[in-house]
Amino acid sequence: MTLFEKIIAREIPADIVFEDDKCLAFRDINPQAPVHVLLVPKRAIPRLGAARSGDEGLLGHLLVKAAQLAQMLNLSDGGFRIVINHGADGGETVPHLHLHILGGRPMEWPPG
Ligand code: 5GP
Repeated sequence: MTLFEKIIAREIPADIVFEDDKCLAFRDINPQAPVHVLLVPKRAIPRLGAARSGDEGLLGHLLVKAAQLAQMLNLSDGGFRIVINHGADGGETVPHLHLHILGGRPMEWPPG
């Protein structure tokens, strides 16, 4: 089981902000912005590059939910950033697809 599957199964505690039948959102344990939420699919896909034909519905659901969560977290007016890290160079540390929802401060570009 991945770390995030354990959070989904409530085997590891997390500050959960949203849940539906397809996904779970919870606050990052090491926030990089005043608001830093992770949105994960309940059906574990290791990373974006492991998504396959047939996953379009789930990936679209995650994006729509990410935008709705940003609004729920009062980030829509100021703006927010969605990040998906893939692989070592991308900064991925947990092999369970997740969207970072970051906001509450101006973001820099290019990212580090
Ligand atoms: P990645 O580096 O794979 O894109 O993102 C993994 C994220 O998971 C990191 O931002 C890290 O802080 C977060 N994280 C790691 N372990 C835990 C945990 O046990 N609970 C929560 N809520 N977040 C975690």
